[in-house]
Amino acid sequence: MQFENQVVLVTGAGRGIGKEIALSFARQGADIGVADVNEDTAQATANEIEKLGRKAFFTRADVSDYGQVQQFVSGAMRQLGRIDVLVNNAGIAQPQPFLEITPENWENHLRIHLFGTFYCSQAAAREMAKRKYGRIVSIASVAGLMGPIDLAPYGVAKSGIIGLTRAMALELADYGITANAIAPGPIDTEMIRAAWSKEALEERASHLPIRRLGQTSEIAHAAMFLASPDSGFISGATLVVDGGSVAAGAYMVEKYRRRKAGQA
Ligand code: NAP
Repeated sequence: MQFENQVVLVTGAGRGIGKEIALSFARQGADIGVADVNEDTAQATANEIEKLGRKAFFTRADVSDYGQVQQFVSGAMRQLGRIDVLVNNAGIAQPQPFLEITPENWENHLRIHLFGTFYCSQAAAREMAKRKYGRIVSIASVAGLMGPIDLAPYGVAKSGIIGLTRAMALELADYGITANAIAPGPIDTEMIRAAWSKEALEERASHLPIRRLGQTSEIAHAAMFLASPDSGFISGATLVVDGGSVAAGAYMVEKYRRRKAGQA
């Protein structure tokens, strides 16, 4: 029970990676604040947390909305009393080829991923700083480390999260707060299944050194490692959890060339 009586906030915890992270921390003894744009899925996650015997607070909150983020954090403080860990997870992936990217697509990715991570981190850190303890873990992506196909604004936002993580690591250290990022490769969730065809996913997995998609539990494991009280000397890091895809980076270049040549 590594997180016994800690309070962990998780954004986008209605499904996918965020839900798995929320339940994993609850199984380790934490009370959980859940935020999601989808109130129904947020409530369902909160119900599952309560079935595990932990307290849950949930609210419908769009992380790209400054006011809604303030309400989420103040609501969690009222209901759960403190904040030990924040996991910035909420996100979208709406592929568009570079020459067709609309201003709305560009803005949505930046607002939800990058502005959202900043709004949530600042609001949570203001509370953490009062107790001189905190762990901020932000879900970035290998798309923030390598050029992604059809996801330029997504990759830019994820690169921004990695930069923000470094800035927070410096400025929040004196308050006992660490900030780290996780860069997942392809993880089997509804997001990735909506963005890629079944065949494209199988092909993507077959080119990873570890020839499969990642599981949500594997990202939750990384989040708990970085959020652990024992990880107090790790700050500003980006932990790549990607089946070795960054190490094998040339794959994406090859895929792009084959697609341009009409072969994939
Ligand atoms: P997912 O299954 O689509 O779950 C994302 C959750 O975030 C959904 O519940 C979604 O609500 C919610 N959400 C979307 N926009 C929001 C907003 N503005 N405010 C609050 N909540 C919002 O995605 P996932 O695959 O679990 O991804 C989770 C995170 O991991 C994302 O940041 C993603 O970029 C990152 N990631 C995923 C992969 C992957 O392969 N799956 C790889 C690298 C990084 P709705 O249900 O209403 O959409």
